Amino acid sequence: MTTVQCYDCGRSFDFDERKRCPCGEPLWFEPERFEWPAGRDPGMWRYADVLPAERPSGVAAAAGGTPLVRTPRLDLGGVELYLKDEGQNPTGSFKDRGSALAVSYARENGIDRLGTVSHGNMAMSTAACAAGSGLDCTVCVPGDIPDERLSHIAHYEPDILRVEGDYGRLYEESLRIEEVEFVNSDTPLRVAGQRTVAFEICEAFSPEVPDAIVLPVSSGGQLSGIWRALSELRVAGLIEQFPRLYACQSSACDPIVRTFEAGETEVEPVEAEGTIAYSIANADPPSGNRALAALRDTDGGAISVSDQETRSAQRRLAHAGGFRVEASSAVAYAGLERLAERDEIVTGERVVTILTGNGFKESSETEVDARTIELDDLTRVL
Ligand SMILES: *Cc1c(COP(=O)(O)O)cnc(C)c1O
Ligand SMILES: [Zn+2]
Repeated sequence: MTTVQCYDCGRSFDFDERKRCPCGEPLWFEPERFEWPAGRDPGMWRYADVLPAERPSGVAAAAGGTPLVRTPRLDLGGVELYLKDEGQNPTGSFKDRGSALAVSYARENGIDRLGTVSHGNMAMSTAACAAGSGLDCTVCVPGDIPDERLSHIAHYEPDILRVEGDYGRLYEESLRIEEVEFVNSDTPLRVAGQRTVAFEICEAFSPEVPDAIVLPVSSGGQLSGIWRALSELRVAGLIEQFPRLYACQSSACDPIVRTFEAGETEVEPVEAEGTIAYSIANADPPSGNRALAALRDTDGGAISVSDQETRSAQRRLAHAGGFRVEASSAVAYAGLERLAERDEIVTGERVVTILTGNGFKESSETEVDARTIELDDLTRVL
């Protein structure tokens, strides 16, 4: 598994040679012949046969295998809801699936330094997985990242570079550096690892499939990986049809939704405004076109939600479900509500919403409502 291919123009390259196609589109590993695994390796390593590296030691071995939970109290508009709790990965987001594969690949191929361009979960995840495998790690963050968020990354002691200048250009230029293996949000290794979430979902429903999968989208890397996995399953005859894929974004930064609604195939960058969903605020998504192709191919859709809708979804996930998710993740549940209102998702359908990241690393905004009582009064007030 060393050949990468362009989903769009079909050209193939050696993985060592290129991370992006000369046509400008992202590359991914050539599809594998897929079978449901017989073994019992834990987590994402259950699918090691279709990954370009073996199960490593260290924290990367613990990535994936997250719970798929039926949550009747969170059902909306007659939909039967299942939550895929990616917050249970080692650093609290699905990014660990990609980072785990990257460290394993690096160990097997004599690479001793990983890099990433990120301002949040991906940086944390890459730094943690590298630390657990004894690899060096360089994290490039935007110059204006708040210290509070940087501190979560610094905890794993990677080399951190605050980079002033255009973030999109930094993303592209980092992929041409040969000394460091950069695993950015839509690079082939990351997408190959992250696609395992779709294998897990489909295996849980096998031989049927859920009607729809709803997720928050930024770079389009995760959505691309899911699309790729679904295609592999269909080619293998293990699923008959695709679940419809729905991309949810914040209305403050929704290039994929806008382009989808306009019926265009080439994502148009937007001027982003501030949003509480900062983990998904990519105004010029590197896998935007591929994400749009995935939405069309699966007959899915795209929806934007306001920060207010996101906040209320985040609260409902907590008080009616017991899930603490970060705002970017709650965008998908808020999106599901809008999709149900618009009858894009209808009564009786089985829907998986991906909770992409947990909220424990965000400071809580919830106002405290508590009574102070005397200990002697305890039995009286209860
Ligand atoms: C990275 C991230 C996303 C978006 O994933 P992409 O692959 O960039 O589209 C969504 N939610 C959370 C919590 C993330 O960390
Ligand atoms: Zn191409």
